Order: sequence, then structure tokens, then C-alpha cells
Amino acid sequence: MADLTVQRMQFVFALRSAGVTDKAVLTAMEQTPRDAFLDGTFVERAYEDLPLPIACGQTISQPSVVGLMTQALEVTPRAKVLEIGTGSGYQAAILARLARRVYSVERHRSLARRARETIDRLGINNVTILIDDGTRGVELQAPFDRILLTAAAEDPPVTLVDQLRVGGIMVLPVGQSDRIQQLIKLVKTPNGLEYSELGDVRFVPLIEGLAEDMTER
Ligand code: SAH
Repeated sequence: MADLTVQRMQFVFALRSAGVTDKAVLTAMEQTPRDAFLDGTFVERAYEDLPLPIACGQTISQPSVVGLMTQALEVTPRAKVLEIGTGSGYQAAILARLARRVYSVERHRSLARRARETIDRLGINNVTILIDDGTRGVELQAPFDRILLTAAAEDPPVTLVDQLRVGGIMVLPVGQSDRIQQLIKLVKTPNGLEYSELGDVRFVPLIEGLAEDMTER
């Protein structure tokens, strides 16, 4: 197997080939060790451009998709960002390097805890992870400048659209859980919502309510 330096060069090459061209996004991804968010044998595959399994039957997204979503979100240094679906915490860690503050909501307690540990270990201190049903958003911190969903909804959740600031951007996969989904970018203008489609993706479904994993870890 190629050594880590070569693997990480190939990683950045894969991101660029997929259309991730934003310098700040590429730098944030280069600075975020994806292997730290994985367990067991998957650690070795961290720098391949593949989605990989994490606990609770969930997945860490494919790096090129993470890059394209982050790029579409147009995160600015002063932005307050909401992510729904913390999972491993990888996407949240990347957003943290681009934004002022990140709130990330996860419905599985054990995933949220593990993500918290990884993010702390990397010395990232502007991410708040909340265990909750993300479809409700985070009312106390609204409005948000940017909102990213990393689980697929059938439609953009109304509560989340309400918690987006006018002028804000939301990026989310939309579609049925077992079919191909579309990545959607939604811009909230004073005159309403502007939609654009960014391509086909495949994410785990957005599920309402807390997960029943209170006994895990
Ligand atoms: N962004 C993650 C990948 C997420 S996978 C990463 O970088 O690793 C999608 C995650 O969304 C899963 O962990 C799943 O448990 C979570 N999820 C699904 N529905 C949710 C909801 N209603 N509220 C909060 N999290 C949810």
C-alpha cells in the first residue's frame, strides 16, 4: 500500500478531478485527517474516494461529495453553520475550518459522542454537537447563515428553511431513501427560494425522532 503522503496526494487529486476547485475547501480537507473519523480496517481506506461504514449502520460520506457540498455552501469566515447528521463528525470538522461556528445535530447518541471525542482530539473548538432530531433545527441559535443536511429528505424540511437567514444558503440531498437523490442548493432571497440542482447523490435517509441507542457506550 502506498504511504500516507502519496495517499493524501491522490486524495487531493481525486477531489480536484471531481470538480472541487475552491482553494479554501481543498485546504480545509487537506488539513482534516479522515482516518481519525474511522474505525478498524476502514482506517486504511480513509484516503480513497469512497463512502465508508461507521457505527449505527451509518456512513461517512464520499470525500468528493463532501467537497462539492462544502463548496456549494459558500461558507464565509463569519458564518454560523448548522449541519444535520453529524455521523462521524468529518464534515463538521471541515466546516469548522471555514466558518466561525458550527452546530451539528445527530440523532444517535453514540455517534455524537464518538464525533465529539474525535473533534476534541484534533483541537477543533468551534463545533457544538447536539443529540436531537435535526429536522427540528436548533431554534435557540437560529437564524443560520448556512445549513447543510447530510441525510436525504423527501423535501427541504420547513423548520430548517425557517431557520435559514435571508441571504443564506442550504445544501441538501432530496429524494426517496432507496433511490437516486438530487443534491439541491437553495438560496433564501427576500423574494423567496431559488433552487438549483447539483447532481445525483446517495445518502442515508433523514429520520425523524431520536434513535433508540441510549444503551450503547
Ligand atoms: N456528515 C456525516 C455523514 C452523515 S451520515 C459525516 O461526515 O460522517 C447521516 C447521519 O445523519 C447519520 O449519522 C444519521 O444518524 C443522521 N441523521 C439521520 N436523520 C437525522 C435526524 N433527523 N436528526 C439528526 N441526525 C440524523
